[in-house]
Amino acid sequence: MFDKSYIDRMFSIYPSLKTLLQESKTVKKARFFITPYLEELTQTLNTEKGEAKPVEWLLQSSCLTALRRILSVRSERVAKFSVLELLWLLANERYDELPDELNDGFFEEIIHLLQGIKGESHIYDSDAYPSFMSFEGRKSALLRSKQLNDMMNDSTDLMQRYPCGLDPDIQKIRTENRDRILAFFNATEADWLSHEWHLKNVIRDADTLGKLVELSEQERQAIEQARADGLPFGITPFYVALMDRDAGRKRDHAVRAQVIPPLNYVETIRNQTDEQAQSFDFMKENDTSPIDLVTRRYPRIVILKPYNTCSQICVYCQRNWEIDDVLMPGAQAADETIDTAIEWIASNPVISEVLITGGDPLIMSDSLIHSIMEKVAAIDHVERIRIGSRTPVVLPQRITPELMDGIAKFHEPGRREVVLITHFEHTYEITPEAMQAVQHFRSRGMSVYNQAVFTMENSRRFELAVLRRKLRLIGVDPYYTFNTKGKEETKSYRVPMARLQQEVNEEARLSPGLARTDEPVYNVPRLGKNYIRAEHHNLLSVLPNGRRVYEFYPWEKNLTMADTYIDIDVSIHDYLQELQRRGENIEDYKTIWYYY
Ligand code: SF4
Repeated sequence: MFDKSYIDRMFSIYPSLKTLLQESKTVKKARFFITPYLEELTQTLNTEKGEAKPVEWLLQSSCLTALRRILSVRSERVAKFSVLELLWLLANERYDELPDELNDGFFEEIIHLLQGIKGESHIYDSDAYPSFMSFEGRKSALLRSKQLNDMMNDSTDLMQRYPCGLDPDIQKIRTENRDRILAFFNATEADWLSHEWHLKNVIRDADTLGKLVELSEQERQAIEQARADGLPFGITPFYVALMDRDAGRKRDHAVRAQVIPPLNYVETIRNQTDEQAQSFDFMKENDTSPIDLVTRRYPRIVILKPYNTCSQICVYCQRNWEIDDVLMPGAQAADETIDTAIEWIASNPVISEVLITGGDPLIMSDSLIHSIMEKVAAIDHVERIRIGSRTPVVLPQRITPELMDGIAKFHEPGRREVVLITHFEHTYEITPEAMQAVQHFRSRGMSVYNQAVFTMENSRRFELAVLRRKLRLIGVDPYYTFNTKGKEETKSYRVPMARLQQEVNEEARLSPGLARTDEPVYNVPRLGKNYIRAEHHNLLSVLPNGRRVYEFYPWEKNLTMADTYIDIDVSIHDYLQELQRRGENIEDYKTIWYYY
């Protein structure tokens, strides 16, 4: 369903476009006319003098390039959809032939695109250049300084909306939460400091969780259904203490969403066919594993997965297809399988880096972790061992001095580096305990990096910028921000890629260099990371339901022949509606349409 007034609004931007489409008896004829029409627009843009300010011209130019690509025959073939045909049907009022899924999202995309081409994007508050540009010396510097202050004051208001677990008032709430949880389990403060106690008391059902924090009806239903369907679910008592007691999700939305599945997630998995179940292996790890426990997507680095579960399960985990349950028996790979995998790595001298992950490898026993590291470190050509773990966030008590001393032995400056790659999603997950866990690594000379996943829960303006800022303060370097994977079951977590581009180009640009160092990436199934900033992707089309179709180029495109990957994003219009439902002023996001 769509609002019919959109049709007039769209064609009123370029009435000549409508005329051209109406005068074309067929879509083929329309294409014949559209090519010179677009050429003429390009000529006008490139030859008219003094009309548009340079930044507006740049925007016009990128919109026109996007439109030309969208209307090209190749894009139609690759995207399997013709925007030109849909425009032709609309211009000729052939409403009976319109696709059922046509909705406002499509019109919003095309209207913004055409407005952008015409120089009517209205994304700049003023046409005038800032006043400091008319002066020189101190006067100019003072005016510029004022402009920078104004810029920051606006964004500071937005940043202050995100509480951090280091804030004294939040720490106080967490202490109360801890005491409430301990009373429920009839346990002591000493128990709270023991990771074994937390692992023994992982909360695995809605009834127990409901006695510790309030659950909304939806949350309770989703957990119960997930358990009945055998889906992995579990939360450490420590992580439950990060949840607010009431179910409003005002501050703890990211924490709850991390572990409590939405109903649509549970239902999608319940209704999966065998064929769809295959698609849950979104990253095609089955196709990139040369030997059991090993994944290889790059020449010099491999992933080693000796332990196949975690102390709690993230709903959107890319490995949810192979994790049966929290701390499931049998998650630990057999010694011989681990040894064979390590021998395989040893037999490949080009491999210089091993990422030990899982699951979460830091849930294994000290002796096993140390023994695996010892065997990997004994390989001459391994220069770096990465440990991928969310334990500092969800179970920081596990990062004991004994564990750390055993790990730190293999960090030998000049010979071999050991680093931790962890996964904080939100400032609300940062706690004094997590900071201490991070400092255990740092004080032994090891670096700690963060990989965030950009989801509906941390994608509001400056939400991630504040996370990066706070992470730097506790000793964690922002490393990657991942665009949420296109897995069907986690669609309510997904954020349009344009929002990630906007975040990088706007919020991150207002941060000092060291706090904006992470790299936004799209993980291409089977092939690995596509660096979004480097623009190794193209917008191919906009579907009738407002979802963009992108083509991603693999990282090795300049080195070897490789195929591209086509992905259908979530609709920007739907995303903005959801933000509005959550209380956001979507005017704050108005430039999102202009990232391609
Ligand atoms: S910690 Fe990592 S492996 Fe474990 S559930 Fe979360 S995303 Fe998956």
